[in-house]
Amino acid sequence: MTPLNAQQKAFVHGLDEKGPSSRWHDWKWHIQHSIRDVKTFERLLGITFTDEQRAAYEATAQQFPISITPYYLSLIEADDYENDPVFRQCFPSERELDVFEHDMADPLHEEKDSPVPGITHRYPDRVLFHVSNLCSMYCRHCTRKRKVGDTDFIPDRKQMEMGLEYIRNTPRVRDVLLSGGDPFMLSDERLDWLLGELDAIEHVEVVRIGTRMPVVLPQRITTDLVEMLKTHHPLWLNTHFNHPREMTASSRKALAMLADAGIPMGNQSVLLAGVNDCQRLIRTLNQKLVKNRVRPYYLYQCDLSEGLTHFRTPVSKGIEIIESLRGHTSGFSVPTYVVDAPGGGGKIPVMPNYIVSWGTHKVVLRNYEGVITTYNEPESYDSHYCDRKCNNCTLALKEDDGCEKAIGIEKLLCDWDDTLSLTPKENERMDRRDDAA
Ligand SMILES: *Cc1c(COP(=O)(O)O)cnc(C)c1O
Repeated sequence: MTPLNAQQKAFVHGLDEKGPSSRWHDWKWHIQHSIRDVKTFERLLGITFTDEQRAAYEATAQQFPISITPYYLSLIEADDYENDPVFRQCFPSERELDVFEHDMADPLHEEKDSPVPGITHRYPDRVLFHVSNLCSMYCRHCTRKRKVGDTDFIPDRKQMEMGLEYIRNTPRVRDVLLSGGDPFMLSDERLDWLLGELDAIEHVEVVRIGTRMPVVLPQRITTDLVEMLKTHHPLWLNTHFNHPREMTASSRKALAMLADAGIPMGNQSVLLAGVNDCQRLIRTLNQKLVKNRVRPYYLYQCDLSEGLTHFRTPVSKGIEIIESLRGHTSGFSVPTYVVDAPGGGGKIPVMPNYIVSWGTHKVVLRNYEGVITTYNEPESYDSHYCDRKCNNCTLALKEDDGCEKAIGIEKLLCDWDDTLSLTPKENERMDRRDDAA
């Protein structure tokens, strides 16, 4: 274990006079001693707000509560706290109370797309399973801000059984994402049970865990936890680093333990004004992640949840960031930039344009350096007419399950469906036809 620095020792002493410094290594101690009020925050960091500031922060915290692990708090540089990326992610801003015209409580319609409590089923073959309503740290930019701190609630086995039952009865679900809250707020025993139940469902091919513990409480990644997770492969994990400052020695150690256990890891960052809206910063972050065996997976445009206006950048900022990554650094250091569609449309990738033009025989493309080049299309191409009868096809897939329905643009492109167009529900021209009929 790394020895504690003076500040960490002072935090242990300041929060828990009787506790020995070694408590710092105990994740449960951090949860029990998370900072939940403005005054404790001031006391530990040696900052004094004016009465006016304190009243404004407390008013925000009434609406959107505070919870900061002592570990995450220790990453704040108190001298310049106002500009600190860790401070901005964990401490309330009075601007959270600004609600703008387009803001929504549940912009992603996670509750509307919920067939049973705890499950969001949006995409054909995978579900989001909310297995805890708890987090060790409340991110100020949380997309589920409406729910944070509402009720501290971990569903009991019976409630989780409803979600499990839905998954068991839905054979199309081959990928289950455990989310929350943070699934690592569950005890090892409960997680072991839950993962075991999922392992037992034949059509579930892979389970993923979405957790911010490696960032906000790396002490949670214990040997016991990792030994248990190892027995549930194939298991993937996505975490949430937003700033290179978060990649501490403790975090690196937690990531190494997970990677050594054979768990492939991805990272989902959120693009946040004043925290990480900088090409160079995101590049550094992604390179650090890769160095620690974490693949940058998504960079999210900030959602339209209430309380997040001050964090939003225009979409153009994200495109500019991707422009500065693709080609400039390793391909696996480039995440997919996505806008999660308001209304439940799911994640939509957004990127710079690389196709400049397209003629009968050639495509004109540009690269990251601005070189404009051509690609000659093949003179002939033996295309396969696809009737979804894979058993007769020369490509030797030999899958007999050809009954899946095509949806969306795939449906328009495919050979086996003769749909000509997709028409929005509200369409005046169609209404006129109906009226005439
Ligand atoms: C993000 C998300 C998923 C997973 O999407 P991937 O692109 O497969 O990572 C699944 N369900 C919901 C509701 C989601 O928001």
